[in-house]
Amino acid sequence: MNATERSARFREIRDKVEADQRLSLDDGIFLYDPQVPLQAVGELANLVRERKNGNAGYFNINTHLNPTNVCVYRCRFCAFRSDLRDPKGYTMSDEQVIARGQEATDNGCTEMHIVGGLHHQKPYQWYRHLIELLHENFPQIHLKGWTAVEINWFEFQTKKSVRWVLEDLRSAGLGSMPGGGAEIFHPEVRDQLCEHKANTHAWLDIHRNAHEIGLRTNCTMLYGHVENAYHRIDHLLRLRELQDQTGGFQVFIPLAFHPENTKLSDLKKPSALMDLRTMAVSRLMLDNIQHIKAYWIMLGIETAQAALAYGADDIDGTVRHELIYHDAGATTPECLSVDDIKQLIVEAGRDPIERDTVYNRVRRDPNDYTQWSIEEMAAV
Ligand code: SF4
Repeated sequence: MNATERSARFREIRDKVEADQRLSLDDGIFLYDPQVPLQAVGELANLVRERKNGNAGYFNINTHLNPTNVCVYRCRFCAFRSDLRDPKGYTMSDEQVIARGQEATDNGCTEMHIVGGLHHQKPYQWYRHLIELLHENFPQIHLKGWTAVEINWFEFQTKKSVRWVLEDLRSAGLGSMPGGGAEIFHPEVRDQLCEHKANTHAWLDIHRNAHEIGLRTNCTMLYGHVENAYHRIDHLLRLRELQDQTGGFQVFIPLAFHPENTKLSDLKKPSALMDLRTMAVSRLMLDNIQHIKAYWIMLGIETAQAALAYGADDIDGTVRHELIYHDAGATTPECLSVDDIKQLIVEAGRDPIERDTVYNRVRRDPNDYTQWSIEEMAAV
């Protein structure tokens, strides 16, 4: 395609976006062409971002809990997992989990993000117990826990249905599910990365079931490794299709691959330009998902700030105790203060809005920051 043809093709896509029409697989692949100016793709994504979310820059006050890094699987992109007898392996005790809940409460967290390894020797009841323990002791904290990969493992362990597992976890106190484990759905890529863990059908079916019983979930895509533009757009379209049917995804999070300490350490991590293009293309393709998140831990603070003009409207949270991407070489701080995170949103020209996990606005007591309440009206 020459420059004139490229301009004409881009105008076609711009007309579609301006008319709020859905983009196709071919449109998405075209937008990934490095010869299509990133700035132009970003401007288009920003149009959709502002149409859907105005000038908001959402964040939350949250903490992470990775109860164990011991895992039966060996995903090639993972720097976090450990073998049972490896000195790096750990499994948290109930006391440590309670201490983490107390620390979260003392810091005014509204959310705990809980994911980890699939421990060979820990039964489903241990994973359920952790949710129950936290919920009983800290009922005000929203527990966003266990990816579809873990739910798939619980199904295997219990020999029960997905629906049974999800309902059982919800009765223990689970509030919603994170979006991890999606990686890249296309089998040409997935089979190279993680051929044994939950396959694409299982991942989508678990999220479908969660949505059907009223659990909101997030969704992700791990990019910048062995996949190409076609695989990425195919992935986004599979998410878009499920969202058309259920409406249960609340935010999409493109996750930049970090190669250090993984079996793919010979690869280079994606450039900031690739990060911004992926953010923008995701915003344009996922017309039925309200929010797009620039996860600052993975992107780095500056790229995450820039992403707020390339389709993203959320920057994630203050984040305490993140291990998974720091093990893979992320050089971002381990935690940001509330003032830091607000400041970086303001610097990016957006209005900082604290949200809870399901995008309600959070109101803080001006005299005691750790005390908070949820505004009745959803932020979206
Ligand atoms: S990505 Fe998850 S399932 Fe895969 S090896 Fe790492 S901890 Fe285990």
